[in-house]
Amino acid sequence: MRLSKLFTKTARENPRGEISVNAQLLERGGFIYKNSAGVYTFLPLGWRVINKIANIIREEMNKIGGVEMLMPALVEKKYLDATKRWDVEIGFEVRGKGEKKAGFVLGWTHEEVLTEIASKFISSYKDLPFAAYQIQTKFRNEPRAKSGLLRGREFIMKDLYSFHASEEDFWRYYEEVKKAYLKIFHRCGLEAIYTVAAGGTFTGSNTHEFQVPAAIGEDTIFVCEKCGYAENLEISRFKAGDACPKCGGEMVEKKAIEVGNIFPLGTKYSKAFGLQFVNERGKKEYVIMGSYGIGLGRLMGAVVEVSHDENGIIWPESLAPFKVHLIELDDKKGEADNIYERLLHNGVEVLFDDRQGKTAGEKFADADLIGCPIRLVISERTLREKSVETKSRREKEVKLLPLTKVLDLLK
Ligand code: ATP
Ligand code: MG
Repeated sequence: MRLSKLFTKTARENPRGEISVNAQLLERGGFIYKNSAGVYTFLPLGWRVINKIANIIREEMNKIGGVEMLMPALVEKKYLDATKRWDVEIGFEVRGKGEKKAGFVLGWTHEEVLTEIASKFISSYKDLPFAAYQIQTKFRNEPRAKSGLLRGREFIMKDLYSFHASEEDFWRYYEEVKKAYLKIFHRCGLEAIYTVAAGGTFTGSNTHEFQVPAAIGEDTIFVCEKCGYAENLEISRFKAGDACPKCGGEMVEKKAIEVGNIFPLGTKYSKAFGLQFVNERGKKEYVIMGSYGIGLGRLMGAVVEVSHDENGIIWPESLAPFKVHLIELDDKKGEADNIYERLLHNGVEVLFDDRQGKTAGEKFADADLIGCPIRLVISERTLREKSVETKSRREKEVKLLPLTKVLDLLK
């Protein structure tokens, strides 16, 4: 992409009213635009990052047998009446113009909708297990929408739901999802901590969260320094310094961002919608379910919170909007254009700063702010040496590389 064609612009100053680092850097870099409190547009650069995250999630969900679909964002009230969730959750009601009462809610999660659909297709143990997911915008009327992408009133979520004939089969799959989640976060450059949290539908069971340590995090967790066992403060009887019940190591208190959450649902939803199957002995049973969420925007915000410096974002290669940020400085011969075309031709994702009338300092500052992994500079000086200057976003020093070697560097 040519920067001269990108309609958004970077900003030197932090936007007013944004107190979180992720919102400040993402808005300044032209990744997101704040429309309202907790409501953001993903601008072209930001949308590229979201799509990278979405594709990593898709790959890992497909590997564990998830099938992708898309459910409506408009959820009729009847679905939530069936589980009595209409009154207890923080949703947005939708009322058609001229109507007195709201007949719909904007979907905040889709257990009800998918369970009802499944009840029309599932009848035998032979139909089980299965798992389906979607990547979709969710709506919650969050009162604390102050931390940029970390807590939106509108946000993109991947929600997976699984359906099983037995508890054993459910727990087997729960473990598979756990592993897939840890892989997803790792591929996105995050080391998430698997944390025991409140809730869960089986007697004595819990839910599990994936927590990324960060000062801005709303959650407090206790993590064993030795074996990594972790509990959320909301269920925990630990205090900092206690001994880990698993290995005797020290439990350390941390602030953390919940990037994912997995829930055993038991038969709560299958009972509400009559989702039953006939087992091998010819008897009817309720389907056992689980649900599994990841917030894509929150994940993106978390990456920025843990990976930046005073000059801007430092994207992991897997999420960077472009692998290469190519800068042209007083190059009259069009050599930068040639390199740009060659990189494109070879499938390298490159952002080309071809803007005229910008100083070297301005172009360098934008490259640091936007945060692509590799910066290439082509100027009269580098061309005299038939070279291009390279620099990694994570390092300070620059190197000269012969023009003929550019593609090797990027392989
Ligand atoms: P939280 O505890 O942070 O309020 P939650 O437990 O209600 O979130 P879930 O319903 O489990 O969230 O949603 C699954 C995932 O969706 C969360 O782990 C998080 O990554 C993301 N998410 C939830 N609420 C928001 C929000 N308001 N803004 C952005 N992402 C969110
Ligand atoms: Mg949660």
